[in-house]
Amino acid sequence: MHKITLIPGDGIGPSIAEVAVKVIEAAGVKIEWETVEAGLPAIDRYKDPLPQHVLDSVRLTKVALKGPLTTPVGSGFRSVNVALRKEFDLYANVRPAHSFEGVASRYANIDLIIIRENTEEFYAGIEHYIDPQRSAAETIGVVTRSGSERIIRYAYEYARKHHRKKVTTVHKANILKYTGGLFLEVARKVGEEYADLITEDKIVDNMAMQMVINPHQFDVIVTTNLFGDILSDLSSGLVGGLGLAPGANIGYDAAIFEAVHGSAPDIAGKNIANPSALILAGVMMLRHLEEDAAADRIESAVASVIREGRSVTRDLNPGSPVGTREMGDAIIARM
Ligand code: NAD
Repeated sequence: MHKITLIPGDGIGPSIAEVAVKVIEAAGVKIEWETVEAGLPAIDRYKDPLPQHVLDSVRLTKVALKGPLTTPVGSGFRSVNVALRKEFDLYANVRPAHSFEGVASRYANIDLIIIRENTEEFYAGIEHYIDPQRSAAETIGVVTRSGSERIIRYAYEYARKHHRKKVTTVHKANILKYTGGLFLEVARKVGEEYADLITEDKIVDNMAMQMVINPHQFDVIVTTNLFGDILSDLSSGLVGGLGLAPGANIGYDAAIFEAVHGSAPDIAGKNIANPSALILAGVMMLRHLEEDAAADRIESAVASVIREGRSVTRDLNPGSPVGTREMGDAIIARM
């Protein structure tokens, strides 16, 4: 029996979380869920977007499955997602992008892993207006040698463990000579220790273009926080959209699994969101818990339902879609 924290989230979160839990339980894994609220529902109830009992729960269980949480744009409370990553030092954000047969997308056979540094640089929240008139603002992005080394090592170790061939470090060291320069210097040094893997580096603007015109040349990609956030959305676009892209936030003492996408307020409450990304985040979670057989079962059921294309949500079959819950039921029936 595993004890796991469930944070359903807001927007489309509760509906996709409900489906993900049903699918995971149908795979036969025994889980005791500790359900806690964060974000908008927690503000309504506890006047705090990240109540202490949520942190206590994750500290105890060490593993959470999390629906998306809205972050107000430009003002309002700071991102709860970022706060959770910082609180538990979840330094590695692993975001795979795999093609699914049956999904209309620009390319087939995409198999990319983006590993994003998750705690430093422009997401650390060191930012302010420089004067009361708000005539200018600054954000300070701190990149440390130790933070760079642990994420780059994580990427190389991941590549080795998963029999990958190449690690591409993405940076902007030509312009960001200190932060980008430090990250690149560490990457080149660590890369020398992994002679069994191909090591390369690319400037982020060129990388974005290369990923669009020839994504098959890449394998494992490691980069700093902001570039990783942007490139992982790009890579999910390559395989058919955000509805299929899962992510894991990994630290030494805890791990939080979630979809790459956000709370999608434009489609919330309509039973039309694709639950696959969060289900696939659940698959990553089961692998983390060494429940590989259940993970494989769910993954192939998701792939089979998507390949067939009859019981999928609107983003995958706009002409004749089913709802979020019905897609979940089809996945369960396929297991
Ligand atoms: P979004 O990812 O929520 O939505 C982008 C587009 O993709 C929308 O058109 C949406 O309808 C669509 N989409 C997203 N998930 C989908 C799904 N499962 N099925 C079908 N379509 C889907 O991005 P946004 O609108 O920029 O952000 C909304 C909120 O989510 C913001 O407050 C943002 O801060 C937050 N956010 C949270 C997380 C997280 O919890 N980790 C991640 C990203 C964004």
